[in-house]
This record gives sequence, C-alpha cells and structure tokens, in this order.
Amino acid sequence: MNAQLSPTHHGTPAAVPTPRTIAVAHGDGIGPEIMDAVLHVLRCAVPDLRIQPVVMGEAAYRSGHMNGILPQTWDALAQHPVLLKGPMTTPQGGGYKSINVTLRKTLGLFANVRPCVAYHPYVDTLHPGMDVVIVRENEEDTYGGIEHRQTDEVVQCLKLITRPGCERIVRYAFEYALAHGRRKVTCMTKDNIMKLTDGLFHRVFDEIAAEYPQLETEHRIIDIGAARMASRPRDYDVVVTPNLYGDILSDIAAEVAGSIGLAPSANIGLHGAMFEAVHGSAPDIAGKNIANPSGLLLAAVQMLLHIGETDAARTIHNAWLRTLEEGLHTHDLFNERTSRRCLGTREFAHAVAERLGQMPQHLPAVDYRQAPATPVQALQDAAPRARQDKVLEGVDVFLDWDEAHRDPNVLAQRLQAAAQDGLRLAVITNRGVKVWPDGHPNTFRTDHWRCRFKAVEGTLAPAQVPELLTRLLDHGLPAIKTENLYRFDGQPGYSVAQGE
Ligand code: NAD
Repeated sequence: MNAQLSPTHHGTPAAVPTPRTIAVAHGDGIGPEIMDAVLHVLRCAVPDLRIQPVVMGEAAYRSGHMNGILPQTWDALAQHPVLLKGPMTTPQGGGYKSINVTLRKTLGLFANVRPCVAYHPYVDTLHPGMDVVIVRENEEDTYGGIEHRQTDEVVQCLKLITRPGCERIVRYAFEYALAHGRRKVTCMTKDNIMKLTDGLFHRVFDEIAAEYPQLETEHRIIDIGAARMASRPRDYDVVVTPNLYGDILSDIAAEVAGSIGLAPSANIGLHGAMFEAVHGSAPDIAGKNIANPSGLLLAAVQMLLHIGETDAARTIHNAWLRTLEEGLHTHDLFNERTSRRCLGTREFAHAVAERLGQMPQHLPAVDYRQAPATPVQALQDAAPRARQDKVLEGVDVFLDWDEAHRDPNVLAQRLQAAAQDGLRLAVITNRGVKVWPDGHPNTFRTDHWRCRFKAVEGTLAPAQVPELLTRLLDHGLPAIKTENLYRFDGQPGYSVAQGE
C-alpha cells in the first residue's frame, strides 16, 4: 500500500494511504454491462489498479441475506474499504433492507457528494453553465428512521442532529471546496423554525466558516434556497445541508442541470467510501448494450480523486467530455442537433478509452492537479470540547388524552391536582401550539398533549420526574413519553411553545 502526504486543516502533513485495490460490486439490471464498460476505461487509464469483486444485490438477497450483502463481502470491504458499486435492484415486498442505507450506516459514510453539472449543448438543460456540488449529510436527521405511533391519531419521527455530525460534514464541505478550487460554500437549513436542530447545523457552519476566510460563505433558508437552485443555480457553488434537505436539493439540482442520468454520487466516510451512479438498475433496458455508463464512470472519477489518483481522474474526465462533444452519444442522449453517432454501452466506453489524453475543445476541461488527495483526512483533528454544565429545570410529559371534548382547561385542572409540591404546570400544547393557559378556541386539538412542568425553585431533582409520572398514573393520566428540560451553561436546551 502506498502512502502520500496531504495537508490537514491545521497544515500538518498526514499520511494518506492510497489503496491500489478497490472493491467492485457489479450490480443488477444494467449494472454488469455499465460496470464492465467503466472497468475497461479504468484499466486503460490506471493499469495497476487491482479489482476485488464482491457480491451484493439480487444474488445476495436470493441466498437469504435480507440486507443484500454477503458476509464475505463485509470481510472484503474491511480489507478494501473503497467500493465502486453498480446499481442494485431492491426486491419488492417486506423484510428486505436497502443496501445503500446498510452500507452508509455500517461503514459510517457520513458525506454524500453530488456534483450537478450542465453539459450544454450536448445535454438539454435549463441552465447552461451550471456547476454546483451538493454536500449532503448522510447519516443523521430524520433518516435514523426512529419513528413511533404514540396515540390513535399521532405518529412521530425523531430528528437527531449531533454536533460531531455537523462538524464533520461542514468541515468536509469546506475542505472539498478548497481542494477543488471552489470559491463559495452555502449552508441551507430551516433554522427559523427548528432553532435547536437546524440552529446547531447553522451555528457549526458559522464557527467553521471562520477557519476558511479565503472562501465566501452564506446561509440560506432551505425553501428559498431550493427555489433559487431551480431558477438561479449560478448563485451557488458548494452547498452543504442536513440529510433530508440535501436528499431533495440534490435531485432538484441534478434535474435542472439536465443530467440526472449522468450524475455520480460519492459516499464518504473516515474509514471507507462508496461510489456509484445516481440512477437505478434500469431493468427495462438491461442486457441490450444500450445503457449509458457515464454516471458510473463519473463516480469512478470521484473515486480516483478520493484515492489520490488525480492524474487518472483528470485524464478520464477530459476524455469523456471530448467524447460527448464529438457527438458520440449513447441512446439516451442521442439528438439531431449535436449527436454524430449512436453508440452502445461497450462502444461508448471504447470511444472514451481511445480519447484518454485528449482535451475537450468546447466544454470546460477539468484540472484536478491541485486537489489534495483526500480532504476527509482533515476531519480526524477535531479538538475535544469541554462538556457544558447541565441543569434539570422541568419536564415535558406527553399524554394520550381524549376526554371532556378535549378541553384543555379540564386537562389542566387534573394535571394540577395530580402534580406534587415544587412543580408547577407551565403550559399545555397540542401539536406544538399553546392551548393552555389562554389558548385560542379555534386551535385544532388532537389526542396528543404536551404538558410542561417547571420546578418552582428553578432546579428539579431527577427523582421528581418518576414521582410525577407515578402521581399522574394514579390520577388516570398515564404518560406516553417524557422529555427532560435542561439548561446548558445557563441556556435553555428546549424550544418554547408557539404562543408561550
Ligand atoms: P432507474 O434509474 O433504474 O430507471 C429510470 C429510467 O431511466 C428507466 O427508463 C431507465 O431505462 C432509465 N435509465 C436509468 N439509468 C440509465 C442509463 N444508465 N442509461 C440509460 N437509461 C437509463 O429507476 P427505477 O426504474 O425507478 O428503478 C429500478 C431499480 O433500481 C429498482 O429496483 C430501484 O430500487 C433500483 N435503484 C437502485 C439505486 C441504487 O442502487 N443506487 C438507485 C435508484 C434505484
């Protein structure tokens, strides 16, 4: 295994291992044919790159592995943690788990990087010249899939945002921007509404932005930010977002660039990475030698950059641009204006391989020579933070209550009668809106109530919470869940109710 030097964000050189062996999963449907096409180009450009085939997808599902991955594949990935993956068919019906979600979570692939580029006039686009990279957080947010049904009428999904998670993805976005000669990083959140969760993401962005004065930075609220992505993508360069917004935004960006079928996707972790096309296994055209291998080829370019093969990445990418602008197109891109010949999957790959070393004449050429091999190395330096002083000052008790015409005044009386001395009922909300005291009669009320108790003296002993729950139970008000209300270094660690 080779090693090379890469600067960390503190400027200290760190050894970056350069894997010479990559794991390759061919995939299902069109996967094997587009993978063979991509491997042909890779072998021509990087003859000493070794390929370790691994099995995942339909074959693994069929042999009874519900997550679509064979046990020996995990062993191979432990040895060769850079994976080039063809698209996989997810079987219909219950019980099967998504390979992507399993890989992301198991390998800790926290960053999803999707360049969204227009190739006008060779690919129809709403925005010629568009060149945006979406860096999406890949593990947190509502994608933990922690969901509960709590009452007859109400289900919930837990949105978890962590400081280390924000720090890693935001720093990765800045390192990526520097490595790729980008000028600006935009953060998008909805922190005008979710002040704690999205607020943390935004705050971490501002903190880390201060370490990169050479880059322009801005924050946009996600709704107007996404709208502008569709109408004025030239306003953006690198965009970093939490998971859910990034999932939606990256599809919008790829779609308006006109190239969703050409879009690559990199899933990056500290100890491994996975590269794939954005599209699926296209069973409708499988086995016909007509699929476009470009999404997977551009993912392979991302992979080469990740492992430090910058020259090969540049050579392949420029040869691909040259092929495109010479009008050598696969079936999906064929058009009367710019196409010269319609090539099959295999023939297209051969055309790219024949152009290795040639530069595009019309489309902007790429130049990765200045790119540090692996910006992810910079993330391992995060300084430990002092833990903040945490004081319990109350508790939110959630109730499933469907009595007395859902009159909050009746509920408040019963809660006050049940609570022990030292606690006061501060507010009752329904779907986050205050309904007691002084609620508005028109506020819609469901069967799910948040009842906020605060310590009269300011601080609550932990044992007072179970005591309160027991007393509520004795009064016929069983709790469905609780959330403790803390102050951290004097600052409230909870949101106030709308109207509180
Ligand atoms: P799809 O992306 O496979 O196909 C959508 C349309 O685009 C089809 O008409 C297809 O022929 C065309 N298309 C896709 N890739 C193409 C290419 N390279 N060249 C030319 N045309 C191409 O989406 P789908 O039909 O919704 O999904 C098919 C299967 O793929 C499903 O089982 C789905 O779960 C799976 N899938 C896998 C991944 C992945 O592995 N990352 C991603 C998306 C979908």
